[in-house]
Amino acid sequence: MEQCIFCKIIKGEMPSYKIYEDNDIFVMLDINPVTPGHILVLPKKHFEMFETTDNEILSKMTIIAKEVGIKIKNILKSGGFNININNGKLAGQEIMHTHFHVLQRFDGDGIKLWPANENEKQKVEKIYQTIINNIN
Ligand code: AMP
Ligand code: ZN
Repeated sequence: MEQCIFCKIIKGEMPSYKIYEDNDIFVMLDINPVTPGHILVLPKKHFEMFETTDNEILSKMTIIAKEVGIKIKNILKSGGFNININNGKLAGQEIMHTHFHVLQRFDGDGIKLWPANENEKQKVEKIYQTIINNIN
């Protein structure tokens, strides 16, 4: 994709803090890190979103997210990491070249994911029925 910033980075037309690459996958530091060692794992081939990414490529991305995530965890002595995928603009995806965020977590980093929603709790049974009646 001509205009895609991640495609340009992968092709070497723009600079990056590259951590790892192989034939299919490219890993770099996020330039606006949430915590130290925040990386992005992306396929070299352009896929817009998680849901349209080739399954074999997704498997490779997952394995690399695990392996590089563990290495950075050990180097920076984090306590663990989150893997986050923003699938679609409404889900927070700003760059339409699919990627995983691997976010190292440190004691007291103050990040709170998945805020509880009491209102939704009341609707679980109803949502379950809607899904289960339509999933196949
Ligand atoms: P998302 O909202 O999931 O699409 O995340 C896009 C991420 O890409 C953000 O966390 C940005 O900080 C990051 N980002 C944007 N431009 C660059 C760049 N040139 N190099 C590295 N990370 C970038
Ligand atoms: Zn791209």
